[in-house]
Amino acid sequence: MSRHIETICVQGGYTPANGEPRQIPIIQSTTFKYDTSEDMGKLFDLEASGYFYTRLQNPTNDYVAAKIAQMEGGTAAMLTSSGQAASFFSVFNLASAGDHIVSSSTIYGGTYNLFAVTMKRMGIEFTFVTPDCSDEELEAAFRPNTKAVFGETIANPALTVLDIERFAKAAHAHGVPLIIDNTFATPVNCRPIEWGADIVIHSTTKYMDGHGAGVGGCIVDSGKFDWMAHAETFPGLCTPDESYHGITYATKFGNAGAFITKATAQLMRDFGSIQSPQNAFLLNLGLESLHLRMARHCANGLAVAKFLSAHDQVDWVNYPDLPGDKYHALAQKYLPNGSCGVVSFGVKGGRKAAENFMKHLRVAAIETHVADARTCCLHPASATHRQMNDEELRKCGISPELVRFSCGIENAEDLIADIDQALAANR
Ligand SMILES: *Cc1c(COP(=O)(O)O)cnc(C)c1O
Repeated sequence: MSRHIETICVQGGYTPANGEPRQIPIIQSTTFKYDTSEDMGKLFDLEASGYFYTRLQNPTNDYVAAKIAQMEGGTAAMLTSSGQAASFFSVFNLASAGDHIVSSSTIYGGTYNLFAVTMKRMGIEFTFVTPDCSDEELEAAFRPNTKAVFGETIANPALTVLDIERFAKAAHAHGVPLIIDNTFATPVNCRPIEWGADIVIHSTTKYMDGHGAGVGGCIVDSGKFDWMAHAETFPGLCTPDESYHGITYATKFGNAGAFITKATAQLMRDFGSIQSPQNAFLLNLGLESLHLRMARHCANGLAVAKFLSAHDQVDWVNYPDLPGDKYHALAQKYLPNGSCGVVSFGVKGGRKAAENFMKHLRVAAIETHVADARTCCLHPASATHRQMNDEELRKCGISPELVRFSCGIENAEDLIADIDQALAANR
């Protein structure tokens, strides 16, 4: 029986048997005991499913990953130690030195750095296209060695909305999957797989945890991409893995399981970016109320965005739910129940005025964080994006006066009063 997202948020992924714990148990154990070496051997050969070492897999994590897979409508999922690890794994599971990726240019600053600097050093090239590029520009970005297309549903912090269907069509026309970072929308507001995305990733550090308690990430596979139909493009999935007993992931685990099994058996084994079971437990507590919190984040976001757009100390406001926003039409298509709680705006007077505004906030706290129950606020040009020059900033949709205001789940009138008095300090 297919259930609604609210029910999956609360109950998905873990169904206790008679007499078992109601809440997900925290399996705080590095290792697992077996009666015979033969039993354990079967696990190493991926002949039987089970656990042997928490660097690769842990039951607590798998309960929570299964919940997120259900929420996104995917077939398999894994938790990672951070969103950064999820971004890295999602791409590195498909591409190696000499390969190429097409990515939206308006992505999280940390992801941009990972792609443009660190993965470039590993020999993987990225071509960045704006989410508003023409079909011709998007087409021109592909190369014979392109392995995937990457973008964010709602970009952090630019708040561009990606035309997921259009990017999925372009990716599929070139025989490669579309990877979507769905951190800001969450599956409560958008399920990218329904629009053609093949792999969905999250920084669970944000709304999913929602309480600023644990850094984490997640990768979900839609199970829809036909790897063997593109076997020459994806030798890592479609030819025997000599580092893992000669297993061919795509034939042994099929489209539903190949991607996550390879990422677990190969990448988690080698890079060890597992989420701690404790953090997975905390993440699950967050997921249980995600559907309730998202509605309040969006209501507060819209109230704040409306207030800001009418304010004389504000140059401009970006919020996709705002009628007149450049991405309003796309938001109505992909995010009909609301986008997120993050509003970005330009303080009149540029960089200095933005810094002064930040200094006077009392309810909103200055944090390198976003998408949290507590309202927080950041000036990217002097914080997260300070490694970028002005041209790179502009390409990511960020200007020096941009303030990223992340509405929590407090009372909207208190947030507005706080903004009002802080803006008054700029007069
Ligand atoms: C925060 C963030 C990341 C990185 O996640 P971490 O958990 O901080 O590693 C990736 N993508 C988006 C959209 C984010 O907001």
